Amino acid sequence: MHAEILSIGTELLLGEITDTNAQYISSRLRDIGVNVYRRITVGDNPGRLLSAFEDSIQRADVVIATGGLGPTDDDVTARCLALALKRNLSFDENAWDSMRKLFIERRWTSTGSDRKQAYIIDGGFFIPNHVGTAPGQGIMIDGKLALLLPGPPSEMKPMFENYVIPLIREHFPSLAPIHYVNLNIAGLGEARVAEALADLLGCPNPTVAPYAGAGQVRLRIAAHGCDKGEALAMISKVEKEVRRRLGHHVYGKNEETLEMALGTLLGRIGLTLAVAESVTGGLICHRLTEVPGSSKYFKMGMVAYSPKVKIANLGVPPEVVYRDQSVNEEAAGSMAESVRLLAGTDLGLATTGFAGPEGGTRDEPLGTVYIGLSHKKAGISIHKLIYPSSRPRAKAYAAQRALYVLYRFLVEHYGKRR
Ligand code: AMP
Ligand code: MG
Repeated sequence: MHAEILSIGTELLLGEITDTNAQYISSRLRDIGVNVYRRITVGDNPGRLLSAFEDSIQRADVVIATGGLGPTDDDVTARCLALALKRNLSFDENAWDSMRKLFIERRWTSTGSDRKQAYIIDGGFFIPNHVGTAPGQGIMIDGKLALLLPGPPSEMKPMFENYVIPLIREHFPSLAPIHYVNLNIAGLGEARVAEALADLLGCPNPTVAPYAGAGQVRLRIAAHGCDKGEALAMISKVEKEVRRRLGHHVYGKNEETLEMALGTLLGRIGLTLAVAESVTGGLICHRLTEVPGSSKYFKMGMVAYSPKVKIANLGVPPEVVYRDQSVNEEAAGSMAESVRLLAGTDLGLATTGFAGPEGGTRDEPLGTVYIGLSHKKAGISIHKLIYPSSRPRAKAYAAQRALYVLYRFLVEHYGKRR
């Protein structure tokens, strides 16, 4: 049993918006054990949409389309599916009632064209939309399920969770969900991870697959085809082996970010932190403060961008600031130490570097970043990386690496658990 996803809207083809609906639906279908074989994007063009529906319905057991359910003339999704199934659309009182309820609740006035959205394919059913006006709809035909959902993600997602998932489970009761965990890895590139786990990557069940991100790798361990307990036991065995091989590089699991892992560690050890950022422009502070409760350990952040500020507010010596435009070891170390003393914290973290697209000196090329870390007892350590990339990527990479440098320091000096 497999599914196809149709994303409908000319704006998707023009590159004006990103197709987040297909990604969301794919990942949720995977969770419940439905394989997605194809994702298709079609503009608001009746001819092409009709043939896309005809093809998908022939091939797949479940077809889920989003977009094109609005009241305007370019919203042709329901009409095209009806044509593909050789059925008519009829006005549905229940769909209209649910729309009217929302209009009254929100004190909206209905334009005459809204009624168009209450037309449902003969033999089908409507799916209520509690967030916006366009109801969804679906039809079961020859053992296959076709579903139409509105384009806005804020409307599509609750309908998908509350109606579509239960519906698919009801119609296809023998689905075997895939169970999985994601391990989050920093400080190692995808190739190094793949090398260290070469034998595991070839296994059919559980499967192990790395996905590279900015300065991190996600490793997905997935088991299928057996009951939950057995699948989780298989995953846990592989997870232990991965952790044994990659050690502190595995900082988190599933949705745990590096800043969350750091927060847990800092909280457990009882250390406080201050940050002085140049090249990362506040990204590190932003990430640290994304974690609820971060004020317990994160005390101060400073974006020390201009040479004058580095001298006057952080006390970095002028000869250090004016050497290689502050992109040097001493600048990073001095910034980390000064911000730690200024804030009265146990730890100070600092970044300085060239994010581009221009810059760099003879000695320090574009993409060079120095990360300084100061600890009240262990002193100052400096880490250098060279990552020439686009400006946003270079900044994101530098922030990620700085957080990892701190994480690694804590694990090495204090251990992962205390
Ligand atoms: P529609 O239902 O076609 O009128 O779409 C309304 C709006 O929903 C669009 O203008 C987009 O902002 C959003 N939207 C439609 N399709 C998608 C999609 N596949 N992914 C993310 N947003 C979408
Ligand atoms: Mg549209």
